[in-house]
Amino acid sequence: CGIVGYIGHREAYPIVIKGLKRLEYRGYDSAGVMVYDGAIKVCKTKGKVVALEEKAQKEIATNGTIGIGHTRWATHGVPNDVNSHPHLSNSGELAIVHNGIIENYAPLKEELMKRGYVFHSDTDTEVLVNLIEEVQKKEKLKLGKAVQLALNQVVGAYAIAVFDTKNPDEIVAARLGSPLAIGVGEEEYFIASDASPFIEYTSNAVYLEDGEMANINLRKPIKIRKIKDDSLVDPYIQELQM
Ligand code: GLU
Repeated sequence: CGIVGYIGHREAYPIVIKGLKRLEYRGYDSAGVMVYDGAIKVCKTKGKVVALEEKAQKEIATNGTIGIGHTRWATHGVPNDVNSHPHLSNSGELAIVHNGIIENYAPLKEELMKRGYVFHSDTDTEVLVNLIEEVQKKEKLKLGKAVQLALNQVVGAYAIAVFDTKNPDEIVAARLGSPLAIGVGEEEYFIASDASPFIEYTSNAVYLEDGEMANINLRKPIKIRKIKDDSLVDPYIQELQM
């Protein structure tokens, strides 16, 4: 299973697809991609990344410069197209990719359903993206803050990348138990489970530590903080061996 993300000036789709192929060694049963080009375009399928490419060729044509992608190793919900990531929130404004497990998804889901949320998949991940949406709406928060508050209600393990159409210059990433690296280029950022998807574009990387989250904003330096107590962490940008 793996995560890839891109935000910058290049076409995101080819970068994300190629990145997913580099992460194939991690094992997976489904794959999916979201690209934003003024609207959210999603394509996902059970099976290999090549199957995703074939499907995407028919379903989405986009040269958007923001994207996230996922290879799934199913833990909650069988491997099928609907359970594949990315998952969208009920409003359609948030998109998430997630590796890991939200252990307390059942009570959270029940609570969200009481508030009118509808679920299309059997995944724990769709609960998380809607929890983020609920927190964001209730408290009128920016995405980063909403992700942080939502993650503090979650028990489990995760590497996530979240995108919000209301602030399309940004991807928010976080990790606890699953790896996540951020490639820092010139006016572009990459996100991936390991550096292999972006090593050809940049040799500068920040590795998130467990319990950290990052605001990856096209117009700003990376901001990293601890999910638990909101304390800021100085991003340590290391140079990778090419
Ligand atoms: N728990 C999530 C799911 O079953 C993510 C699995 C993964 O790590 O790929 O969809």
